[in-house]
Amino acid sequence: KPTIGVLALQGDVAEHVAALEHAGAAARPVRRQAELAESDGLVLPGGESTTMSRLLETFELLEPLRRRIAGGMPVYGSCAGMILLARQVLDGRPDQQQLDGLDVVVRRNAFGRQVDSFEGDLDFTGLDGGPLHAVFIRAPWVEKAGDGVEILARVPDTSDAGEAAARIVAVRQGAVLATAFHPELTGDERVHRLFVKMVHETM
Ligand code: GLN
Repeated sequence: KPTIGVLALQGDVAEHVAALEHAGAAARPVRRQAELAESDGLVLPGGESTTMSRLLETFELLEPLRRRIAGGMPVYGSCAGMILLARQVLDGRPDQQQLDGLDVVVRRNAFGRQVDSFEGDLDFTGLDGGPLHAVFIRAPWVEKAGDGVEILARVPDTSDAGEAAARIVAVRQGAVLATAFHPELTGDERVHRLFVKMVHETM
């Protein structure tokens, strides 16, 4: 069984721990460097990316985490976690720190200008069993993705702009997975199972 940490500085930690346990991992909260070192993979939960970025510095986890990610540790970021993993954030705070795990530019609170929160069914590449129900809460979207980034899901656009306006909401680059939405809230563990499998593959 892989040991998968959930960064527990802020955000919806308990839901991820439960989902990971259901998906076959030994899950535990991570607040200290030693706990990070004992983890085979890490989940960065939803919450508030600017706050989490500040707490990563306070808890002296920012550099150790950057090193682990650069060294190939599997990471899954949801919502605020996706923002932290991106190489660049639009509409972030000037002092917001990035983990640089994904060659993407994300826009923070991107849907917020239209609707704060919404739910919808997505086609998610590589997940068997039909569309995935996704919950978005002041979510980011991926505005630009580099060549090495696999696009796993988009939000279909219902306006006149059609397909051109579909927004990227799930990506993978090597051992780094990110979703703009919150699969830990729906009881559907397929995204967590995918991540547990990714961790297994590196062990
Ligand atoms: N809007 C939050 C941020 O900027 C993310 C929201 C979430 O994680 N649900 O970090």
